Amino acid sequence: MKTISIQKTTAPKAKPQDESKLGFGHYFTDHMFLMNYEEGKGWFDPRIVPYGDFAMDPASMVLHYGQAIFEGTKCYRRADGGLQLFRPEANLARMTRSAQRMCMPALDEETALEGLKQLVLLDQEWVPHSEGTSLYIRPTMISMDVHLGVHASKTYLFFIILSPVGSYYKDGLKPVGIYVEDQYVRAVRGGTGFTKCAGNYAASILAGDIAEKKGYSQVLWLDGVEQKYVEEVGSMNMMFAYGNRIVTPALNGSILPGITRDSILTLARQLGYETEEARLAIADIFADIRSGKLTEAFGTGTAAVISPVGKLCMDGEELVIGGGEIGAISQKLYDTLTGIQYGKLPDENHWITRLS
Ligand SMILES: *Cc1c(COP(=O)(O)O)cnc(C)c1O
Repeated sequence: MKTISIQKTTAPKAKPQDESKLGFGHYFTDHMFLMNYEEGKGWFDPRIVPYGDFAMDPASMVLHYGQAIFEGTKCYRRADGGLQLFRPEANLARMTRSAQRMCMPALDEETALEGLKQLVLLDQEWVPHSEGTSLYIRPTMISMDVHLGVHASKTYLFFIILSPVGSYYKDGLKPVGIYVEDQYVRAVRGGTGFTKCAGNYAASILAGDIAEKKGYSQVLWLDGVEQKYVEEVGSMNMMFAYGNRIVTPALNGSILPGITRDSILTLARQLGYETEEARLAIADIFADIRSGKLTEAFGTGTAAVISPVGKLCMDGEELVIGGGEIGAISQKLYDTLTGIQYGKLPDENHWITRLS
């Protein structure tokens, strides 16, 4: 591991006072972590510096050809005031897998993890205290060569920024309405669906916008080849419950392998539910909602942990799931995973890194 230099700010910012108004991604802390890469030299100069602007040449390759990948993880404050991370090494390992697909260099995961920990500890007063709040951690990698022409850059910048975020659910888990997108697609076979690359999100905004105008909070994507099979939702993986059986789309290369997805599947098995990863036809899902066989639907992701789906709409037909109420399995899994993240439940799977 390389030594990380630290330059502290001389002008700390005022922290947001009202934790009930934090929202998501509005505020950023006093410092950031940076590290550079050059072909032949590897990763160098890991450093923590005051949060601030980047000076970039307008011909920087990331601005034109989009070699940009990111991650999202969180730091949680326990009731005793101490801080803990949830599976951060899984996020950095996933970033290296994203990098390989985008022809970007593998991350120096050890130095990045140490930088992440030191950064959070330096800005620890920014980790909010209220129920359900956390410090969102955004590692990012971008290409930096100043050059026009489509090929892989030889220089990169890795950075981590931190944002205190509010509780996703102020009044308990609230089911959302989801629109099944049958025109646009998010990812195709052989594409970049399994990576957290910026371009995937750019390509998804239009469909999300249209769904919102129709009164739905997010889009459920179907496969990009036949548009028949369930993929995932916005920034969440999808799960469906049939009684005590939980089914989710298998990792097929076009959906994002969520760390929450993996954690929920593990916890579900430990809690005695049956789990299955399969190819799920949307027509079957709709038939099973109509017949009442499908009892719960929910999304899984770092931001919301579990987001119950109360309504699904496709081809003008809107179906209500579980009476539009939060289901018992969704609630149980939410309580269990957040219990572990906030240090209220034992961490039997060794997912937690205590920082303080
Ligand atoms: C980040 C993300 C997820 C959820 O991944 P987690 O590791 O659970 O946060 C799911 N789908 C997409 C498209 C994502 O970007």
